[in-house]
Amino acid sequence: MTQIDILSLGYDELLEELLLMGEPKFRAKQIFSWLHEKKVTSFSEMTTLSLQLREKLKEKFCLNRLKIVKRLASSIDDTVKYLYQLPDGNYVETVWMEYHHGVSVCLSTQVGCRMGCKFCASTIAGFVRNLTTGEILLQIYEAERDMGKNIDSIVLMGIGEPLDNYDNVISFLKILSNPEGRGMSLRHVTLSTCGIVPRIYELAKDAAGITLSISLHSSSDDNRSEIMPINRRYNISELLEAANSFFKETGRRITFEYAVIEDVNSAEKDAAKLAGILKGMQCHVNLIPINPIAERSFHGSRKTAKKFMDALSNYGINATVRRTLGSDIEAACGQLRRNAIEK
Ligand code: SAH
Repeated sequence: MTQIDILSLGYDELLEELLLMGEPKFRAKQIFSWLHEKKVTSFSEMTTLSLQLREKLKEKFCLNRLKIVKRLASSIDDTVKYLYQLPDGNYVETVWMEYHHGVSVCLSTQVGCRMGCKFCASTIAGFVRNLTTGEILLQIYEAERDMGKNIDSIVLMGIGEPLDNYDNVISFLKILSNPEGRGMSLRHVTLSTCGIVPRIYELAKDAAGITLSISLHSSSDDNRSEIMPINRRYNISELLEAANSFFKETGRRITFEYAVIEDVNSAEKDAAKLAGILKGMQCHVNLIPINPIAERSFHGSRKTAKKFMDALSNYGINATVRRTLGSDIEAACGQLRRNAIEK
């Protein structure tokens, strides 16, 4: 019999399994808290359960871990980048970032990515598989164990497209926010998407408290389609309509990510056009100086990003250049994993 991955079970699914085993309802509460609040790494640590039940659980379920294969700590600030090995041997990356207002982690949601954005390292070697709900959670739990403290907020901005692994991401959010476990408010979670439009409408219903961050990167369809193939499926006006609807439904202001790339999207006319399409929207623009990746010739700089920010402010658009953390370890997202595969 294959074992059930217990960390991937939502509260109700866990309850159902336990009832099938003939256990009383309150066991679900106890076990869920051991798993997601106390974050035990084995069933034997669940000391409020009888030895016999712990044995039964060990047979029926598996309680996975991720292996830290690389841990790069910045010497400039407190950023730590983890390369994890998953139970099946695949790799993902997670970044631990300390701000004055607390600790934030950047999580991966897939092994590889199939969205094909031209400037992104995560997509070059293609898509392997979705992460399970448990694997998304474990990126937090392993880092917290390693650092000896808990995180305060989460950004789903690592490897993969979170809305392309929709069900597991939603079940991750449900476990995270369940008061029987960690009870984290979704206000502390930001999800970044390249723009899978129908999922944005669903997200507004399934995870209303979340902050939505949209990777826009261009204000004209021709240009955006060239660097982000998803735009051929869902164009800018459809994307902005979904963004507006998300704001209307949830009251949460949208963030637009814009990687500033020399000779691609950073001219004065690009700022004017961007300001035009965002006019009147409740949003914030987060400018990222493009992180060059070895396989492509895109380049940019903080200076260009600042200039673009000033141009946007002249048009009344609220924009900031993203702070750089861990610049000494900042291989563009996805590159640690790529280097590991190559070896
Ligand atoms: N798939 C999701 C989340 C992962 S990428 C998304 O597309 O939003 C997180 C952010 O980093 C996105 O805004 C993405 O476009 C951006 N990004 C990817 N590669 C980059 C690079 N080389 N330089 C700067 N930003 C990059």
